[in-house]
Amino acid sequence: MGCKALVLAEHEGGAVREVTYELLGLAHRLAGEAGWGAGEIKALLVGRSIDGLAAEIAGRGAAEVIYAEGTAVEQYTGDGHGRTIEKVVRDEAPAILLIGHTPNGWDVAPIVAAGLGVPLATECSAVTFEEGRPRFTRKIFNGKFIQVVELGEARPLLATMQKGASPAFSGKTQGTVRKVAAAVAEGDLRARFVEIKKGEAGAVDLTQAPIIVSGGRGLGAAEKFSVIRELAAALGGQIGASRPVTDMGWLPHEHQVGSSGVTVSPKLYIACGISGAIQHIVGMRGSGFIVAVNKDADAPIFGVAEVGVVGDLFEIVPALTKAVKDAKGQS
Ligand code: FAD
Repeated sequence: MGCKALVLAEHEGGAVREVTYELLGLAHRLAGEAGWGAGEIKALLVGRSIDGLAAEIAGRGAAEVIYAEGTAVEQYTGDGHGRTIEKVVRDEAPAILLIGHTPNGWDVAPIVAAGLGVPLATECSAVTFEEGRPRFTRKIFNGKFIQVVELGEARPLLATMQKGASPAFSGKTQGTVRKVAAAVAEGDLRARFVEIKKGEAGAVDLTQAPIIVSGGRGLGAAEKFSVIRELAAALGGQIGASRPVTDMGWLPHEHQVGSSGVTVSPKLYIACGISGAIQHIVGMRGSGFIVAVNKDADAPIFGVAEVGVVGDLFEIVPALTKAVKDAKGQS
């Protein structure tokens, strides 16, 4: 028993959530930098009758999956999961515990931190080693500032990581699964699960999109977004937006990229009519390749773009769409 890095696995609707593999990818990178063996990376899965998911995680990143099972944790509650996670962490004594900055993650992480009496860095976008000490990069004041923190000597170091902050682990492992009992019985639960209400069908998840075409206030009106839609469709990508676009109701909030929207890391991000305010940049600068189209040559977005086109987006974007369609033989 015992490990250096413990990752809290998440699952939904009978599938492992991608954030699990992102955390495992991060854990492997940290293990490489800290000189820990891959055998020191474990995942904790909490639930009931999900043996198949435990095996899947053992095959993709975790040397061991500790599967805490029980009827009291079949559905998420901060109390049931929190106490179960705390018990496993006390047994395993990891150096670092990584949790996704997801609705369940941001609910349970403070419960676990309080139970263990350790500090917590929330909504982190990066973890780096400086002189052998891990530092956590996170947004504060609603994204106006970036803070870099060390968490002191208490262990485990506990952080919630933004979705999309790290590439998902894509290799194969031959990990094992160890089943343990959840730390709470159903009669002991202080919070009770009632129901899950699903959001609207067709909602987008930009954090997982490999290609995003985003539009900003420069579009001028909701109906003019058709140029963005056409390019996104030609590329097989999703549609993103800056905050004014969602504030004005041109697109739903789930399309908003930035400090008060989502953080994305697609392979390709195309920003059209977006000036590049810091609150937007913090949400997309982790993209693999950034293209910006703006009629203002001094727009700050060009500071993070690999390719910048100075011009009218209503000329450039349709021409780009045509070029993509031509290249794909779709014209
Ligand atoms: P503008 O800054 O108005 O830029 C429009 C750009 O379009 C200009 O650069 C202009 O040159 C260009 N343009 C106009 N017409 C054309 C054309 N025909 N062709 C080409 N280019 C053209 N913003 C976010 O995006 N995401 C967030 O999550 C976010 N969170 C925030 C949180 C807080 C607490 C605060 C205070 C602000 C937040 N903002 C956020 C807002 C942010 O500060 C900026 O106001 C916003 O990003 C600007 O959006 P924009 O670039 O679309 O608009």
